[in-house]
Amino acid sequence: MKQYVFGHQNPDTDAIVAAIAFSYLQNQRGYDTQAVSLGEAGPETVFALNYFHTDAPKVITNAKPDVDSVMLVDHNEFQQSVADIEELEITHVVDHHRIANFNTNSPLYYMAKPVGCTSTILTQMFIREEVKIPKEIAGLMMSAIISDTLLLKSPTTTEEDKLALKALAEIAGVNYEEYGIEMLKAGTNVDSKSDKELIDADAKSFDLNGNNVRIDQINVVDFNDVTKRKDDLMAEMQKEAQSENYDLFVVMVTDVLNSNSKMIVYGDKANEAAAAFNANLDNDMVDLPGIVSRKKQVVPALTDALK
Ligand code: MN
Ligand code: MN
Repeated sequence: MKQYVFGHQNPDTDAIVAAIAFSYLQNQRGYDTQAVSLGEAGPETVFALNYFHTDAPKVITNAKPDVDSVMLVDHNEFQQSVADIEELEITHVVDHHRIANFNTNSPLYYMAKPVGCTSTILTQMFIREEVKIPKEIAGLMMSAIISDTLLLKSPTTTEEDKLALKALAEIAGVNYEEYGIEMLKAGTNVDSKSDKELIDADAKSFDLNGNNVRIDQINVVDFNDVTKRKDDLMAEMQKEAQSENYDLFVVMVTDVLNSNSKMIVYGDKANEAAAAFNANLDNDMVDLPGIVSRKKQVVPALTDALK
């Protein structure tokens, strides 16, 4: 019986690559799976897919009636998953995020580790299962680790990520530092995106102590590319916050080469959001020096501040 494997909505490089890699691994082990994605690949992911001669997975919004059961990678929270997740059996999860809004009727395989990237966990699974990693998939998993850890500079980075990245770069035959800067830069072209696309491209929804919080992240090499559009972005954030009932809408703008962020903040809880970082709102923005990780730095701070 065929199963779909997919990462979260608004997929980043890890969400798409982990689905491709886990689907390959599971098929080698006798499962019948297909990697799909819950959205179009962004420019960074397209750069990696092209470089390693791999087609983007088919995009779906519902898994039924094609399949009855699925495997999740790079997420578990239902509001970040496929629209009909509640009607599906989940047989496997491989993830590196907090576990929330997740439950199943049946026992399942659940592999979670607090490392920098799902593809790091998958690299270890390939090794444990003694399945050879094809060169193209190694290059893609290497790309996912570079993306999630910002070339091993994010505080989410662990020794396991470093080891996995180096092993994968070896298999792929690529200088990961040179390749990584090119790939991260490919993901920072914001001029071609509309205001709405920018606030949505990498956005995730969270329930933080009963608050409906939306957090987007935009990678840049120059803050000004985004901050010069702040008023227009705020107008779009306001529109979406009203239609989706967000208590807080945060757009993190992250300088991927220098590992700093600024955040643009909208909503009833905007002042609390600034206070979470011991800062004040300055023209709807907050400086976040040294902060690059939504998962490890921004979500925990906002969770505390919204108690
Ligand atoms: Mn992800
Ligand atoms: Mn990830």
